[in-house]
Amino acid sequence: NTVFGKQFFQNLINDYKLSKESISVETHLDESNTQLFIDKFHITTAILNVSDNAVKYGSDQLKIRTKIIDNSFQITIEDNGIGIAKEHQKKVFDKFYRVENTNIHNVKGLGLGLFYVHQIIKAHNGTIELNSKENKGTTIIINLPL
Ligand code: ATP
Ligand code: MG
Repeated sequence: NTVFGKQFFQNLINDYKLSKESISVETHLDESNTQLFIDKFHITTAILNVSDNAVKYGSDQLKIRTKIIDNSFQITIEDNGIGIAKEHQKKVFDKFYRVENTNIHNVKGLGLGLFYVHQIIKAHNGTIELNSKENKGTTIIINLPL
């Protein structure tokens, strides 16, 4: 599908805000409204997966930014949840991987969310990175080629 970056993310985030009252969402969207060639359904589901993780893992504040950088459309999703310890950070994209101690919080899941997100971003020839600090929060950075 062809979409316009700013418009697409604005709509996606507005719908998301309506469905989630427990979290405040701050947005800074790239003004140029660049054209993107993406699979709308899968990119939407991927962004929702990452945002839902933030809520599941203790965040009450989400910051979503988009910008154009080096021929990529970059989407940054930052939360202030429980974070992920260093030794788990590489593995969370593996199929069925979950961090054990998050079960303390009684959060259910299959460990498939980030695996799926990674597959979708790869299928778009994009990249995904995770930065996280325990008890501080997690930031997911997605780059989609323009
Ligand atoms: P599913 O998404 O399949 O319902 P899940 O949320 O457990 O289950 P993933 O989304 O793949 O699976 O995430 C893998 C693990 O990474 C989670 O179990 C959790 O421990 C950790 N994790 C993911 N996102 C965050 C986040 N934003 N903050 C803290 N921990 C996270
Ligand atoms: Mg998940």
